[in-house]
Amino acid sequence: MERFDVVIIGAGAAGMMCALEAGRRSRRVLLVDHNISAGDKIRISGGGRCNFTNMHIEGAAYLSQNPKFALSALKRFSQWDFIDRLAAHGIKWHEKTLGQLFCDGSARRIVDMLLADMAVAGVVLRLGVKAASVRREGDGFMLNVGGNVLRTSSLVVATGGMSIPKMGASGFGYDIARQFGLALVETQPGLVPLTFDAATLADLKPLAGLSCNAAVSCNGARFEEGLLFTHRGLSGPSILQISSYWRQGDAISVDLMPGGDGLAFLRAAKQERGRQSPARVLAEILPRRLAQLVARAVPEGRNMADLSDAELAALTSALKDWRLIPSGSEGYRTAEVTLGGVSTGDLSSKTMQARAVPGLYFIGEVVDVTGWLGGYNFQWAWSSGWAAGQVA
Ligand SMILES: Cc1cc2nc3c(=O)[nH]c(=O)nc-3n(C[C@H](O)[C@H](O)[C@H](O)COP(=O)(O)OP(=O)(O)OC[C@H]3O[C@@H](n4cnc5c(N)ncnc54)[C@H](O)[C@@H]3O)c2cc1C
Repeated sequence: MERFDVVIIGAGAAGMMCALEAGRRSRRVLLVDHNISAGDKIRISGGGRCNFTNMHIEGAAYLSQNPKFALSALKRFSQWDFIDRLAAHGIKWHEKTLGQLFCDGSARRIVDMLLADMAVAGVVLRLGVKAASVRREGDGFMLNVGGNVLRTSSLVVATGGMSIPKMGASGFGYDIARQFGLALVETQPGLVPLTFDAATLADLKPLAGLSCNAAVSCNGARFEEGLLFTHRGLSGPSILQISSYWRQGDAISVDLMPGGDGLAFLRAAKQERGRQSPARVLAEILPRRLAQLVARAVPEGRNMADLSDAELAALTSALKDWRLIPSGSEGYRTAEVTLGGVSTGDLSSKTMQARAVPGLYFIGEVVDVTGWLGGYNFQWAWSSGWAAGQVA
């Protein structure tokens, strides 16, 4: 029977980082994945250029039942530490918007960097093999991996969330947590497009393909970024961000003139361009077809000069506080992340080790830590993987 010091299940961002760190400590490390290649999500992320971190990593950008849990690992292995690794491998990057850092070239360079560092650290990588069962034996673990039984002192679960099942996502990490008595926070798709009932969709669908800047709010969160109309509902960065805060039944509020005083704009238009229609006035700041939809807040056939104060207020609401109740989301099929997961209450924030099960670690997306869009999720994977790699 093969024996290892550390077995890591899942060769994604978190698993690879953990493997190379543990290997550098001269631990005998095995990293397994049922996919036939490592780091698949890194490869496809950020349109093939991987938004690998963010300049502004901060606690507020992470959702968790304990929002402070992530801070220790994020500080000890920060965005600057990861940037140093890229520099050491000559990987060039650039900042897009909002502190989001992308590779200048292919995201594959990051996967190659991690594979090269793992090879130097002596990590054994086995792909195309599924971890099927785990049990405690003495102070270690017995595992069935691809039909072979292995023994390990430390077991690191880096199986990710439920997002994009066809890329290897499985609930196996949650099964292990349950088996060893760890609490789970209910999971839900995050960073995902929102869908709408037939009546709302009848308004949205004709706008499919249009995009504009908007501020979208829900449950105390607010994001000002692009909004995209699709055949199924709404998408774009502002919607993906708010989807992580939205719960079934909640309304979202869309401000189509973020930072602007809608009432003042409409009042001035009434005075200065009184013979123009509301749709024409709104088309000065919105795509024409969207302006027509917003203008439906007041009776058809009226000019700006005809609008009463109440009608101006109704038009302002439609522009600044457009209330929509999503019927659901596109689900794990397209979600970038999974909210919830292994409860942080049962893990050490310093090492990611299960408090009640010495030798068992959970890192990356399988844990109840979910970042905003913009490189925050990969940074959590690097940082939590690094933290476990120092001790596992
Ligand atoms: C389309 C898309 C784009 C994204 N873009 C970005 C971005 O630009 N920036 C950002 O920060 N985040 C992005 N994300 C989120 C980011 O990819 C994840 O948060 C991150 O990959 C999580 O890393 P992980 O190592 O925890 O899990 P994963 O990368 O999901 O890795 C888990 C691995 O475990 C393996 N596995 C599962 N079960 C088993 C088993 N039983 N046996 C063996 N192996 C198993 C899986 O095959 C998988 O390879 C994106 C996500 C998606 C889906």
